[in-house]
Amino acid sequence: MQEGSMAKSGGQGRSVADRFQEIQRKRLLEQISSSAQHREGLLTDMWIGENSSFSTHPATAAPNMSSFYLIETIKGECQAKRALQKMQEGTYEICDECGKKINRKRLKALPHALNCIDCQTKKEQQRRTSRRNNWHWT
Ligand SMILES: [Zn+2]
Repeated sequence: MQEGSMAKSGGQGRSVADRFQEIQRKRLLEQISSSAQHREGLLTDMWIGENSSFSTHPATAAPNMSSFYLIETIKGECQAKRALQKMQEGTYEICDECGKKINRKRLKALPHALNCIDCQTKKEQQRRTSRRNNWHWT
């Protein structure tokens, strides 16, 4: 595999962030606005679910699912905002944890990725084990 980012002869200087980041920025902004709408929809669902005859059983899983999605949506939104902030700082393609470059393929798949794949994998493993060990991780 080749990294084509090394040398681009001629063209514009570095004053403007490159095209890749420009595209990513648009995607992040879209993600934030659609997530805001999604969030409202979920909140409405939860609200209606509580007040309508929908909830025949108090222990239905539906409200939990909604709140799960709500948390995920808010998380994604926060990450997207952080990614935009990183763009302003000029550290968008750099991992928050280890300072290495994040693979562009990964960023294309996840514009709001803040960590490289290695750190992300480690984090997920830690989260999993900490849950299993009953907050052993501090
Ligand atoms: Zn990393």
